[in-house]
Amino acid sequence: MSSISSIEWTDATWNPVTGCTKISPGCKHCYALTFSERFRGVPGHPFEQGFDLRLWPDRLRLPLSWRKPRRIFVNSMSDLFHERVPDEFIASVFETMREAWWHEFQVLTKRPDRMADFVAAHMRAPLHHTHPNVWLGASVETQKYVGRARLVASLTSTVRFLSCEPLLGPLDLADVLGSEGINWIIVGGESGHRARPMDGTWVRDIRRQCRDARIPFFFKQWGGRNKKEAGRTLDRRTYNQIPQTV
Ligand code: SF4
Repeated sequence: MSSISSIEWTDATWNPVTGCTKISPGCKHCYALTFSERFRGVPGHPFEQGFDLRLWPDRLRLPLSWRKPRRIFVNSMSDLFHERVPDEFIASVFETMREAWWHEFQVLTKRPDRMADFVAAHMRAPLHHTHPNVWLGASVETQKYVGRARLVASLTSTVRFLSCEPLLGPLDLADVLGSEGINWIIVGGESGHRARPMDGTWVRDIRRQCRDARIPFFFKQWGGRNKKEAGRTLDRRTYNQIPQTV
């Protein structure tokens, strides 16, 4: 699956891997799982195998054919650092990202321990030199998972970001935010029929922490049963701040 995306903080998605397995509470109502399983058993459909992990070698070079520069969310329907994705395959994804220098690639994982191990083992120079167009990030839904933020903060990518969606509790990120650490934050509430609530005080507190650390803050959505109606306005304004890398 590779297409123009309706996700507010990106332009397009690229899925050289599909399928995944749940790893933490943020996965409970995984959109990718629900969507993929709808097509399990449909012959010839890209999600014929449902949410089972699948590698798509024929998609590896796809971004090179997109001439217009895009911000690309890598593996919106999977997790590139899932334990069953071989290192060589991840290396091929990084090679395409390096060659497709005119795009910006946003790699988001719930497995930043493997991401950090991969970078340490395979990158001989700081990523902001070898892959300046690659942004690395982790999902953090509650304080229990702030360790993921510490791993991302230790990386050498140009942008080191967090997606706090679905935000399920307050977060104290003070020790990881800043120009040398996490330098972009996205916050969003869960959406759908069984959406878990997000408290406005949690969102405002993260906005304050971003302000204090002088890093961009992106408020994606309130979420809930009707996410369109709930919208994405916070105290009468929208927050679409994205790192400026050039
Ligand atoms: S890590 Fe992401 S893709 Fe995988 S199950 Fe959890 S939410 Fe879904």
